[in-house]
Amino acid sequence: MRVFRGDRGEVHPPGLIGRGVTTPLLLFWLLLAAGAGTSRAEEVWLFDVHSHHARGLHLEEVIARMDASGVRKIVLFARRQGTDKEVLDLQTKYPDRVVAAVGFQNPEWLRQVPRFLDEVEAKLRSGRFRWMGELLLRHYGVPELQAPEYDISPESDLFRRVLDLSAKYGVPVTIHHEAEPGNVESFRRALGQNREALVVWAHWCGRAEPAMVRRFLAEFPNLYCDLGGAQRSRRYGQEKHPLIGPTGVLEPEWRAMIEAFPDRFLAAIDAVDPSHYARYNEWVGELKSALAGLPPGITRRVAFENAEGLLTRWKGPPR
Ligand SMILES: [Zn+2]
Repeated sequence: MRVFRGDRGEVHPPGLIGRGVTTPLLLFWLLLAAGAGTSRAEEVWLFDVHSHHARGLHLEEVIARMDASGVRKIVLFARRQGTDKEVLDLQTKYPDRVVAAVGFQNPEWLRQVPRFLDEVEAKLRSGRFRWMGELLLRHYGVPELQAPEYDISPESDLFRRVLDLSAKYGVPVTIHHEAEPGNVESFRRALGQNREALVVWAHWCGRAEPAMVRRFLAEFPNLYCDLGGAQRSRRYGQEKHPLIGPTGVLEPEWRAMIEAFPDRFLAAIDAVDPSHYARYNEWVGELKSALAGLPPGITRRVAFENAEGLLTRWKGPPR
């Protein structure tokens, strides 16, 4: 666990006071805060808005990995045989640490079965799920994760309905859509159908060309980019318009964009299976180091404030 030092060097235990935190834990934070010689990267704590629950994963391990790496909160997307119910049970046990998402890596979304969205809406109506995802549109196959290729049109009726649900409930939806020359315009038209939808375009906005991301962010004020999977130590992070350069700092064009749109980028790790959680600490460290190169106020926004702000967009249970 880490504390974050503010712009003027003041120390903020991250929002724990008054949330039922025990005195020993508070004391621990304060002792940590008093410790000298820690680097800025170590002082940043993260809100990971993109990791997964899957078969074979013990969810308590997720909490332990978060504790060990200075991640205060996490959004969990069930995938494969991991279930929304298990994610919700973890959220009930750790309400300040876990945000339960309605999982979209589900055969019914992937086969575009309309009834699936009725179940999604029922879950949103319960008020207990505050995120949706990871919704796959264009997705490259990942053999090591037994993940096939998908190419679902952004202009489908079902996708439009997802955007409407996001707007209606004020619940973000995280979308995996690899930007390609032939699919960017259709995605732009789809987003234009409901500008109130809270869209998190995963993987630094589809790993699109930075200039294209800049145009999207300018056009859609409710569009966000998550930074999941960007680490240099992962093949995925290096394949297409990398976010982080060979020396571990943000690539200049991405750094300039984050500084131009400091409220629109969200820290994310994208741990998918148990082998990924074994590397969670390392991947969190890489992302923290890269973000530490930003001005401190912006580091803090990307690390956790922007995600906290998104959660406040929830419109509450319908009357
Ligand atoms: Zn993804």
